[in-house]
Amino acid sequence: MLKCILLIEDESTIADNVIYALETEGFHVEWQMLGHTALNTLKQSDIDLVILDVGLPDCSGFELCKTIRKFSEVPIIFLTARAEEIDRIVGLEIGGDDYVTKPFSPRELSARVKVILKRSTKAQSETQRIETDFVIDCAKTMIYYHGIGLNLTRYEYLILKTLLEKPQQVFSRERLIELIWIEPEASFDRAVDTHIKTLRAKLRDIDATDPIKTHRGFGYSIDASCKQQSNGD
Ligand code: CA
Repeated sequence: MLKCILLIEDESTIADNVIYALETEGFHVEWQMLGHTALNTLKQSDIDLVILDVGLPDCSGFELCKTIRKFSEVPIIFLTARAEEIDRIVGLEIGGDDYVTKPFSPRELSARVKVILKRSTKAQSETQRIETDFVIDCAKTMIYYHGIGLNLTRYEYLILKTLLEKPQQVFSRERLIELIWIEPEASFDRAVDTHIKTLRAKLRDIDATDPIKTHRGFGYSIDASCKQQSNGD
């Protein structure tokens, strides 16, 4: 898919050169001359990176960057004509990712764009991997732990699914029996402990850190992230 760059720059000669250089590299460019219209574009379109001129007619690029940071982590490269060090530092301290000093070569700018996009895509995929420990596939009644399918019994599956649906929440043995067992009155608290024990062993085969916590006298909870999917992909 084409990466979309939002260029916020009021000088059309600079904008033309930048747009030409970026489009040559295969990027799609949205161009805005004013801060407030640029904000609308950013909120309405799927923007992968922002190139932001510090000196805009209706606001300062630094102010605009602060506003953007309130709702978006999109990478921002500043364009600045003022070479003073303070501007550069301020620019990066308020949440910018990089800066280019005018006059600059559009090729240098597109090289920076590529580096930053690569960095942010990598960071995103790493967060996703870390964020989701478990994936529940309800259609297949399967649970994946760090991407590996668990071979669970019916009760192990239901206990794990119940815990994962409310991470950090403590479930008493009675509550788990009530939620899971078909004939709760015929079941014993010890049954829960037994299933938890075998479940833990299966999780430990994949990762030694035990996400299931025992709350003495209360019950069990899980400390892990999870996403659910109903159609296997
Ligand atoms: Ca300007």
